[in-house]
Amino acid sequence: MTAPTADLRKPYITPYAEETVELPLTFVHVAGVDWLTYRDTLPGEFMFGVLWARCGNRQDGTVLWSMVHTLRQRRCMLKGLCRVCGRPAADPETGRLWWVLASPPPTDGAAPWPTVSPPTCREHIAEALTACPHLRHGSPFVCTVSDYTPIGVLANLYGHDDDGRLVETRHQMAIGLDDIHLLPRALATQLLVSLRDIRPEAV
Ligand SMILES: [Zn+2]
Repeated sequence: MTAPTADLRKPYITPYAEETVELPLTFVHVAGVDWLTYRDTLPGEFMFGVLWARCGNRQDGTVLWSMVHTLRQRRCMLKGLCRVCGRPAADPETGRLWWVLASPPPTDGAAPWPTVSPPTCREHIAEALTACPHLRHGSPFVCTVSDYTPIGVLANLYGHDDDGRLVETRHQMAIGLDDIHLLPRALATQLLVSLRDIRPEAV
């Protein structure tokens, strides 16, 4: 994947090839359930009842445009940080969070709307529209939201093949945080949130 242009800032949530690490995945049997885990699990690698994809955090090297760094995406969502600069995305005057969606929500903004795209601070909306492949090629919708809440994860599912080897069985599937049947064998790669009180904004 090549960069859109050479001089664009590297967005905060964009990963680098050098941040890719080995995933020593395995299953452990706990209370009648097979749980996906790492052979050397570290504190904090489970959140919302699911294992998260491990990745490095050097923010330097070969940019993997169009991919998403799992832990920086999750941090942006948990803290309301901008996907481009990693700083707070709340408007200092209104307290509402600036957001750019790949397409307009189908309703007038009153109904909650799910997304895995983190907020974008007002200063970096124009840059996000230029740099993010899924925004450049879509019908982006700039808005503010009053609040949002985590509702699920985008995850890969794992199981065993006929020879007992651990294999990926589903790739990039949305799973609700209440799905107790799928979460144990999921490897979360992005946090899915639900936006509330969506207002279209001009920039
Ligand atoms: Zn920003």
